[in-house]
Amino acid sequence: MIDIKSLTLKELKDEMQKLGEKTFRAKQLYEWMHVKLARDYEEMTNIPKSLIEKCREKFAYTSVKEVMVQTSAIDGTKKFLFELADGNFVESVWMKYHHGNSVCISSQVGCRMGCRFCASTLDGLERSLLPGEMLDQIYAISRSTGERVSNVVVMGTGEPLDNYDNLLQFIHMLSDENGLNISQRNITVSTCGIVENMRRLADEKLQITLALSLHGSTQEKRAELMPIARKYHIEEVVEACRYYFEQTGRRITFEYSLVGGVNDTQEDAENLCNLVGDINCHINLIPVNPIKERDYIESEHRDILKFQNKLEKKHINVTIRREMGRDIDGACGQLRRRVSKEKTVTV
Ligand code: SAH
Repeated sequence: MIDIKSLTLKELKDEMQKLGEKTFRAKQLYEWMHVKLARDYEEMTNIPKSLIEKCREKFAYTSVKEVMVQTSAIDGTKKFLFELADGNFVESVWMKYHHGNSVCISSQVGCRMGCRFCASTLDGLERSLLPGEMLDQIYAISRSTGERVSNVVVMGTGEPLDNYDNLLQFIHMLSDENGLNISQRNITVSTCGIVENMRRLADEKLQITLALSLHGSTQEKRAELMPIARKYHIEEVVEACRYYFEQTGRRITFEYSLVGGVNDTQEDAENLCNLVGDINCHINLIPVNPIKERDYIESEHRDILKFQNKLEKKHINVTIRREMGRDIDGACGQLRRRVSKEKTVTV
C-alpha cells in the first residue's frame, strides 16, 4: 500500500484524479497531514466520509506511536522512542536552543555502516524509512511539545545517503510551502561519506547543510574507526565536500568525534588543518559518547581544548558540541536497542 504521507502535493493530486476526485481535495488532505499534523483520517472534518473510506482502502497512513519520552533534568532535551507500523522502533531527539527548537531524526531502522564507536549500527540495518516516517517523527514531536520546530538535523540512527530517494523526497516535503515550510537552510544532513550520493546531492543544488562525519584526519586513522573509509578514500570524500560547496555555496560542517588516545593528539589536529584548511567549513568537535559494547573513552578535557586551539590558530571555524541531554541517552541508538531487546525477550 502507498503511504499517503510520503506523497508530494503533486503526487497526491494525481492520486485524487485517479480516484475521480477533485484535485482541491489533495490540497485539503495535504494540509491536514503536513500543516495541521493530523494523527488519523478521523480528524479531517472537512473531507467527505466517502473519500476517507477510499483513502483508507488505498493508502496507508503513517503515524508513529510515542512509546517513551525521556526528559533531561539538565537542559530539557527530550529523547523520544517511536514505534512504527511494523513494530520497529526509532529514536528522535528534541533540543531547545536559544535560536529555536531543533529536532534530530532517524533515517533508517539500524544502520549498515559499522562505525566502531556507534551504537546504532551494532545490529546492522533493519530497513530504510519512508519520507512519511521521517516527517512524522517531527510532526509527533511538534504535537507532543506543542512547540514549533525550526531546525531539523538528520543525525539520528541510519545513514541518510544510504536512503537517498526517500531522503530527497523528505527534504522537498519538509521545506514545501504547503507543509511545515522549514527553510532548507535550517536542515542539516549528516553522512559518513558515500561519495557518489554526496555528489548527486550537490547537483540537486539544495540549500541544506551537509555535515560530513570525518573522525580521522588521515586515511589510516579514519579507516580504523569507519569501515566505509575503506570504500572511499579520505581525499575522495573531502573532494566531494569541496564539490558540494562549489555547487551550492553552502559551508560544509565536519564532525569530528574525539576519542581518547585514538584521534585527539596535536598531530591529529595538525593533519586535520592540512586536510580541510582550504575549505569553507565549520568543524564540530564531539567528545565521544562511550558505549558499553566498545572500550573507547572520551578525550581529556584539556586535550579537547588543545585540539580546538590548534584549529583556531589556523583560523578554522571550530566549536565543541554542547553535550545535550547527557543524563538521558547514553550514546545514540542505545534507547532503541535496549527496548527492542526487551521486547524480543518478553514476546
Ligand atoms: N550516518 C550519519 C548520521 C548518523 S550519526 C553519519 O555518519 O554522519 C550522527 C553523528 O554522530 C555522526 O557524526 C556519528 O559519527 C556521530 N556518533 C555516532 N555515535 C557516536 C558516539 N558514540 N559518540 C560521538 N559521536 C557519535
